[in-house]
Amino acid sequence: MIKITDEEALSYHQYPRPGKISVETTKPVDTLKDLSMAYTPGVAVPCLAIEKNPQDAYLYTAKSNLVAVISNGTAVLGLGNIGALASKPVMEGKGVLFKKFSGIDCYDIEVDTQSIDRFCSVVSAIAPTFGGINLEDIKAPECFEIERRLTEELDIPVMHDDQHGTAVISAAAILNACELTHKKLQNLKIVVVGAGAAAISCARLYRHMGAEKIIMLDSRGVVHNGRSDLNEYKREFASSEYLTHSQAFECADVVVGLSKPGSFTIEDIMRMDNDPIIFALANPTPEIFPKDIKKARPDAIVATGRSDFANQVNNVLGFPFIFRGALDVRAKKINIEMKVAAAKALAELAKQKVPDYLHKLYDTKLKFGREYIIPKPFDKRLIVEVSSAVAQAAIESGSSMMKNFDIQAYREELKR
Ligand code: NAP
Ligand code: MG
Repeated sequence: MIKITDEEALSYHQYPRPGKISVETTKPVDTLKDLSMAYTPGVAVPCLAIEKNPQDAYLYTAKSNLVAVISNGTAVLGLGNIGALASKPVMEGKGVLFKKFSGIDCYDIEVDTQSIDRFCSVVSAIAPTFGGINLEDIKAPECFEIERRLTEELDIPVMHDDQHGTAVISAAAILNACELTHKKLQNLKIVVVGAGAAAISCARLYRHMGAEKIIMLDSRGVVHNGRSDLNEYKREFASSEYLTHSQAFECADVVVGLSKPGSFTIEDIMRMDNDPIIFALANPTPEIFPKDIKKARPDAIVATGRSDFANQVNNVLGFPFIFRGALDVRAKKINIEMKVAAAKALAELAKQKVPDYLHKLYDTKLKFGREYIIPKPFDKRLIVEVSSAVAQAAIESGSSMMKNFDIQAYREELKR
């Protein structure tokens, strides 16, 4: 892992000017006429056009390329509930990634409340500004209700990335791991360790894609119908068998850890089937380190959330391109079809020959196989493949407000 000192991190954020983002203008303001166009009286013309036809906001304002990254700071990275203001460096960072990877402009918005009602009313009141809303680092279980309400209420795409980004990318990795081990998604026994924001969404997506046997564990053990302490989200995955922790791992094909270090062990993975697919995604310290997994199970396909090991499940493979595709076809929602399309496009891309610049950048030969089941973030083909797949799925599933969208022309545009 690249080592960074605290001093370096603070200095990066402080100089040459504080923070990581700024606003730039896109029209000339050099003459008196420019000034009259940019502001009054010229500005009144698009205002009236938008009043008459709200869709014109996409023509005359920055809405079509503007996403809000919104948090209340209740589940920030691995730092926990550090509050709205302290979450700001993370939200600015997310804005940097949006801009860098897909050219999307962002405002980071930190909302100082832990109330679901208040949070939702703030977000829905400011929604007209934006083409999309990326909810970020909001703790479970509130994040589920917040996303549900805002998705229902607003007609622009809303996505809580900690849930769905992880789901999309880990699903892509599972698809490819299945291919390498000649297993079928619908036959897999999948153990999801964790029952929080990421785990619930992952399990929902795997189920939608055809997985039939999912066993979920939380901090108290297997989530099953005999328990009276389950929230409604965990209850969706409660198993009818009252299994113990060890029984859950018996002959499992896949384990996806979205919990904390040590929540499953070498003993657990020794109980798994041949060629186990083991994703230890707790960040920054995985449930078990890859070298320990490989020592115990040389036949395993392993992924983590970290950049210093092979197969990084990194959300940056998803959100920039999912929003790019959604914005460009003016999708009303980011629905499950669009997420599945993103996962499949990622899985497909990892099977393609890797361009030389990536071998150089990562200083290793990348070829589809156990050590390379998902693409790398700096792969320039991501925007083309993932965004066009998402756009196409939005159109086919009826989420897009555009008619006669030319997907081939769009792919060419994305290549530029
Ligand atoms: P979260 O909402 O707080 O959920 C954490 C879950 O872990 C809770 O359901 C908790 O159980 C469960 N847990 C805690 N100790 C456990 C144990 N000993 N055995 C089984 N389950 C246990 O957090 P989150 O946002 O979903 O994130 C979870 C982890 O995944 C974090 O480490 C995060 O960094 C990582 N993550 C990685 C990626 C990535 O790699 N791209 C993406 C998202 C998240 P209770 O419900 O009983 O409290
Ligand atoms: Mg996050």
